[in-house]
Amino acid sequence: MSIEITHLGSGSRGNATLLSSGGSKALVDCGFSLIQTEKRLASIGVEPKSIDTILVTHHHKDHSCSALRAARAWDANLHCNLETALRMGWQPMDDCRTFGNLERVECVQGFSLLTVPVPHDDADNVAVIASDGKGGRAAIVTDLGEATAELVNHLSGCNHISIEANYDHSRLARGPYPDSLKRRISGRGGHLSNSQTAELLGNLCHSGLESIVLCHLSEKNNAPHLAESEVLMAISDDFSGDISVSKQRGPEFSHWTGQAEPRRFAAA
Ligand SMILES: [Zn+2]
Ligand SMILES: [Zn+2]
Repeated sequence: MSIEITHLGSGSRGNATLLSSGGSKALVDCGFSLIQTEKRLASIGVEPKSIDTILVTHHHKDHSCSALRAARAWDANLHCNLETALRMGWQPMDDCRTFGNLERVECVQGFSLLTVPVPHDDADNVAVIASDGKGGRAAIVTDLGEATAELVNHLSGCNHISIEANYDHSRLARGPYPDSLKRRISGRGGHLSNSQTAELLGNLCHSGLESIVLCHLSEKNNAPHLAESEVLMAISDDFSGDISVSKQRGPEFSHWTGQAEPRRFAAA
């Protein structure tokens, strides 16, 4: 049993990643409008009501936007941590179920989602490691200023890693943002740069790592070719799988644990 990973789109204007395994479907983040989310699901033939679990990583709008409305409309279980529930004004028990750090959220059948805390601004953000219970593992990691030793530990041995490559150092430095925002983005609570992600992936390559998706790229401070080339330089000797970039507009492709080759959708 493998896990299928499909980014419906990724970036500062919205994030949502569909994970499917063993008859269960989970959405990690729901940061587009409900109409937009349903449109993107329809484009790949997924019935929204077939989604049983929605996990929101943190309260920022690009991750949480329509999560409560979607959970109600699709009769799905909404999961987040307590800080996110408080910041969203969601009532634990009534609106959502809360998880603690390093807790496993069980999907209806087939797989579970482990929540690993990561440093990000004023948000209580988590990375998600999906596990099919048979050794297949896929990671979704966005919105963090640096990778903690704990995160690296949980990423080791994953078959698929989706991870942010938010900005290129020189583009951020030369770009239009005020200095205070530049410092926040590149600080411990900001986002991972191309070079941070490249270095991290360089240390995580192993023969079982089949696919990598670079996501949450800044449209102002990065470009897909910059992120991809920087990461490839760090991993090319050790990595023979597929590397793709998820853009704001999607979905463009799906990956499965257990195989490197993605399925590409005709039109996003
Ligand atoms: Zn965020
Ligand atoms: Zn974000």
